[in-house]
Amino acid sequence: MSAIAKRNAADSPHPGRGSARIHFDRGRHPATRLPLLEPGAQGEPPVCGGCAFLYERAGSHGARLKCRVRASKRRPGPNLQPGFPACQRFQPANDQA
Ligand code: SF4
Repeated sequence: MSAIAKRNAADSPHPGRGSARIHFDRGRHPATRLPLLEPGAQGEPPVCGGCAFLYERAGSHGARLKCRVRASKRRPGPNLQPGFPACQRFQPANDQA
């Protein structure tokens, strides 16, 4: 990692690396490109790990977490982490019947 990349990583309050962090720093989610969901008045801020749209996609290097609400219809989108901050399409996973 270059000195500039290390400094940028240390300056950012957001998770992820590379382009994912760039989107978070701009207030948008890297998967959907939608604005991040504002934290609620109480409780923990929502994260992708609690969202109904998160799913596991098999790949040659193992399963990866992806979002069904992706920005591109032709690409599966970036790999997500359960702790990524949620976007405005967040839907609690336990809302599914
Ligand atoms: S909060 Fe849900 S809809 Fe938004 S990026 Fe995460 S998994 Fe996708």
